[in-house]
Amino acid sequence: MANIIDGKAIAKQIRTRLTDEAAQLLAQGVTPTLATVLVGDNSESATYVRMKHRACTKMGLGIVDKRLDNTATQADLEAVVQALNDDPAVHGILVQMPLLAGMDEDRIIDLIAPEKDVDGFGAINMGLLAQRGRTPHFLPATPAGIMLLLAETGVALRGKEAVVVGRSNIVGMPVALLLKEADATVTITHSHTADVASHLRRADIVVVAAGQPELVTGDMLKPGCIVIDVGVNYVDDPAAPKGYRIVGDVEWGSAVSVAGFITPVPGGVGPMTITMLIENVLMAAGR
Ligand code: NAD
Repeated sequence: MANIIDGKAIAKQIRTRLTDEAAQLLAQGVTPTLATVLVGDNSESATYVRMKHRACTKMGLGIVDKRLDNTATQADLEAVVQALNDDPAVHGILVQMPLLAGMDEDRIIDLIAPEKDVDGFGAINMGLLAQRGRTPHFLPATPAGIMLLLAETGVALRGKEAVVVGRSNIVGMPVALLLKEADATVTITHSHTADVASHLRRADIVVVAAGQPELVTGDMLKPGCIVIDVGVNYVDDPAAPKGYRIVGDVEWGSAVSVAGFITPVPGGVGPMTITMLIENVLMAAGR
């Protein structure tokens, strides 16, 4: 039976430390401030922004809340981001994705000043992450949280076989780069990989970020491996009080008896993400 990596408890500990760090900055007259930019009326995006605001406020950080409606143009959005770049009271800038249809997301992400790019998604920060021996201004929050969860297992990553399922810019690719920097031997699998399971079966470390409910099952895992399940999937379940339940990309029931360590969904990677974002804002303010 696997050891459960309790992301909720680990994130709580980190938040206690970050609350102290925020208090120290406030005592020095610096209010660590995150600016968020929300475009349009996507309710899911609004929920994510609200969650980030709530966490910031709880820990003593300041917020600048920018909203553009459905009539906004690319130029309007660029003007907002540029003004935030120029505002010395703003330490971190986060543009909530997705943008409106027709807007150029890459251009907006790259417009954010690298030293305020607390999501770490801009080409400069990603490039620095990819290059050996270079240090990005910020690590993307979810991958950084995953590395902390791996550290909590106490298992050394050097020389281990790591397999990442998924190659997105926000999770799969950056986590693979971080594992490589931690001296693991990394394989990235994706939707065109012929036989994902054949790779997984030799992996000491498995990170699954595919967005496919219960894609990875226990028979695909090497006994004793570490499994980090990033997926968050809502599946219909008439028996559940809300009519649905949340499952990961890993089938918990079969994986938990094979793995050595495993993150639950919910309560694994999720709680780490906003925590690491706040750490980035404090780091920016401290600089
Ligand atoms: P994405 O859709 O951008 O990327 C999914 C990746 O998985 C792609 O590279 C695709 O090639 C790969 N993939 C899809 N099906 C596959 C299959 N059958 N076999 C192998 N590879 C396959 O998704 P994302 O943004 O990286 O997010 C992935 C999951 O992680 C989602 O469920 C998302 O909700 C979740 N997520 C959670 C957090 C968190 O904080 N908990 C943060 C980000 C994403």
